[in-house]
Amino acid sequence: MAYIEFRNIDKFYGANHVLKGISLDIEKGQFVTLLGPSGCGKSTLLRCLSGLEAVNGGQIFLDGEDITSKEPKDRNIGMVFQQYSLFPNMTVEENIAFGLKLKKMHPDTIQEKVKAAIRMVELEGKERQHPASLSGGQQQRVALARSIVMEPKVLLLDEPLSAIDAKLRKSLQISIKRITKDLGLTSVFVTHDQDEAMVMSDVINLFHDGRIEQSGDPVTVYTRPVSSFAASFIGSYNQLTPEQFARMTGKGRLGETAIRPETFSISSSPLGNRDEYQFEGIVEDDMPRGNVLRYQVNVKGVQIHVDVLFRSHVLFHQGDRVYLSVAERNCIPL
Ligand code: ADP
Ligand code: MG
Repeated sequence: MAYIEFRNIDKFYGANHVLKGISLDIEKGQFVTLLGPSGCGKSTLLRCLSGLEAVNGGQIFLDGEDITSKEPKDRNIGMVFQQYSLFPNMTVEENIAFGLKLKKMHPDTIQEKVKAAIRMVELEGKERQHPASLSGGQQQRVALARSIVMEPKVLLLDEPLSAIDAKLRKSLQISIKRITKDLGLTSVFVTHDQDEAMVMSDVINLFHDGRIEQSGDPVTVYTRPVSSFAASFIGSYNQLTPEQFARMTGKGRLGETAIRPETFSISSSPLGNRDEYQFEGIVEDDMPRGNVLRYQVNVKGVQIHVDVLFRSHVLFHQGDRVYLSVAERNCIPL
C-alpha cells in the first residue's frame, strides 16, 4: 500500500463536479506536484487530504489508515498557503513555537525544536522580529518552519511561492526541496507553473478539469505528453492535425502529432542529416524569449515554432528561406 492513497475521490460544490473519481498513490518521502490551470481542482484535493473539506465519494488512506472522516487536527498534516497567515503580533520565534505550546510541550523542548527549525529555513538572527519587518520570502520561511516544527506526516503546500517575486522564488524552490528531502517529508505541492513543477517534483500529476490527465517524473511528462491538453500545458509543443502532418511529411497518421520547438534543426542550406523528415520553409517571425530565440516558420502553409539557443545574434529574419529537419522519435503521437 502506498503511503497516501486517494481512491476514487468525488467532490461536488452544488452541481459543480470538481473532483471526478480521482485515484492517486503517493509514496513515502516523495515530493509530488499537482500541476494544472486555475480552477481544475488542485486545492480542493489538498483540502480533502487535510480534512478541511469532506469528500462526497471515495476514500483517503494515510500510512495504512483510512482517514476519510477523521478530524483535520487528528490527521497530523501540515499546510503552507500562498498567504502566509502568520500572527502579526508575535515574533518569528513565537509564531513557530505556537503549535508546540498548544501541545503543552516542555519549554526546553520547544526552544530546542524552534531553534532547529529556524536554522533549517535559514532565519537565524530574525528570531525576535515581527512578520511585518520581514520580506515575503522570509515570511514564507517562517510559515514553513511553523509547519515542519510539528513533524507532520505530510506537508501540503498550496501555491506557496505565487506571491513571491521571480528571483527569490527560484531560491525558495531550492530551499523547500532541500528541506523536505533532508527531513524525509512526504510533500504534496500545488502549482500552475510548469517550470516550478519541473524543478521541484519527483512526480508531476497534471490536472485537467477534475481529473488527472497524466502522471510521471518530470522528464517523462515533458517529453512524452499523452494528450493534446498535456502537450499544450507543458513544453509549448507544436500540435499538428493528421492533415497538416501529411502535408509536411507526406506521411499519413491517424491522430494529432506533437513536436517540441527545440527538436527541429534549422539551417540556411539543406541539412542532409539523418533526421527522417526534412522541410523547406519561410521565416515569418523571430521572437527573443530569454536565452532562446523562437522562429515562426511557414512550411507549406503550416506554422511551426522552432527554438534555438540565443547565443550572439539573430540568425534568420522575416522572409528568409530555411531548411528544417526533425527525427521521427520526436514526433509524438497524441
Ligand atoms: P485550483 O486550486 O485548481 O485552482 P480549486 O480546487 O480551488 O481549483 O477549485 C476547483 C473548482 O471548485 C472551481 O470551479 C472553484 O470555483 C470551485 N470551488 C472551490 N472552492 C469552492 C467552495 N468553497 N465553494 C464552491 N465552489 C468552490
Ligand atoms: Mg488553488
